[in-house]
Amino acid sequence: MPTGPDEGFDGPTEKCGVVGTSLADRSAARPLYYSLYALQHRGQESAGIVTHDGFQQHSHVEMGLVGDAFDEDDIAGLNGSAGIGHVRYPTAGSVDKSCAQPFTVSFKSGSLALSHNGNLVNSDEIREELAAQGHAFTSDGDTEVIAHDLARNLLEEDLVRAVKRTMERIHGSYSLTIMHDETVLGVRDPAGNRPLVIGEVDDGYVIASESAAIDTIDGELVRDVRPGELVVLRPDGEGYDTYQLVERERTAHCFFEHVYFSRPDSVIDGGLVYEVRRELGRKLWDESGIDTDVVMPVPDSGRAFASGYAEAAQEADAGVEFAEGLMKNRYVGRTFIMPTQDERERAVRLKLNPIKSTVEGKTVTLIDDSIVRGTTSNQLVQLLKDCGAEEVHLRIGAPPIVAPCYLGINMATREELIASDKTVEEIGETIDADSLQYLSTEAVAAALDADRADLCMGCVTGEYPYDIEGEETDRDVSRPVIEGSETASADD
Ligand code: SF4
Repeated sequence: MPTGPDEGFDGPTEKCGVVGTSLADRSAARPLYYSLYALQHRGQESAGIVTHDGFQQHSHVEMGLVGDAFDEDDIAGLNGSAGIGHVRYPTAGSVDKSCAQPFTVSFKSGSLALSHNGNLVNSDEIREELAAQGHAFTSDGDTEVIAHDLARNLLEEDLVRAVKRTMERIHGSYSLTIMHDETVLGVRDPAGNRPLVIGEVDDGYVIASESAAIDTIDGELVRDVRPGELVVLRPDGEGYDTYQLVERERTAHCFFEHVYFSRPDSVIDGGLVYEVRRELGRKLWDESGIDTDVVMPVPDSGRAFASGYAEAAQEADAGVEFAEGLMKNRYVGRTFIMPTQDERERAVRLKLNPIKSTVEGKTVTLIDDSIVRGTTSNQLVQLLKDCGAEEVHLRIGAPPIVAPCYLGINMATREELIASDKTVEEIGETIDADSLQYLSTEAVAAALDADRADLCMGCVTGEYPYDIEGEETDRDVSRPVIEGSETASADD
């Protein structure tokens, strides 16, 4: 499978979700809390909110899901109309509270809180340099490295220049919400690898990983934060200023955000994720459609792909009928821990059950968004055949995952990836499908309406947009050309 952000069996696991807001005259805590609920699919390990009341920070950070991490007293204690929040899935650093975020620290330059989604590729180097200058670290995560670097720069520069210097120093993927005293900032890395958007609510502005978080608090999406851009929310919700601090020739948007990670109801880099997935499904039919009795999704995230695929098939007068053939047990969720392969195999049976009348005696096309280890796909093919399917053909709405991700996605190791050392034909045989086809990288770029060169496809090509030890680099973006253009624009 994987079957999307709420599954977590055989798939990549999400990174993190960030949010920040500055409001006119009400507490920021509750909108932040609701926004984190909307971003829960991006991280389930810990959740946290830090607010500022004009005098001091208030922080509540806990391990676990958003609903478990906060109670009414916690929210009531988070005073102030400015704040940031975070949900975490650990991709760098320990799995304990020391790395839970927002990360807070007080320096001579004031108080700082940081929420980070992404992964730096040069944090060890910067950590060593800062440690040599006397900075003491309390965690092994890369967010603290950003916090210390920024705090050091704030001793010598104003806020915007200090952020710019930090952006020049750190390399990798990062969408950040930052609070310096009570000023809330949003920063997106120069390659735009992770999403970040600006939204407007009645009495202020919000910055969040995905637009679904803004919808949840009755806000309106304004636009994406541009790659290399800093957004500064004015205090008391009065507006915001933007600064294009770093520019580079090409972006490296993570294509997997559209295929798998982001919510289908989010708009990312100008595209509604649901529509992109439907378009991927249509292209899957164009490239490798097969005329079977039924086409069915692996729920839930295969659904949009399957609906696009079925629509294209029907337009081509193929007799394929769209059907729901697998039912999901919604009560087996993230809290169901599956550390071993054996347990993961059993989990498939707990999670999905076939509808016999849809499957029995039929030829079936099963649509999924990706294959990581292949274990779950094999289980599902078996499940459908045991239920009487005559043939099971698997169609995947992304190219084969051949390499790990170093930019914030927990993708399994290279050895665990079934496509790292097998051809598509061999994978099809291993999972016992009657046929297997993936989508091409060209089709993915076309469905995203993007230039292939502006996407990161490291995990499906093995070529990354940054210098990573032992890996190929597909472009010269590891040391960006820095062209400061500090143009403040009100309500951009
Ligand atoms: S390697 Fe894959 S998952 Fe990681 S950022 Fe690039 S496209 Fe996204």
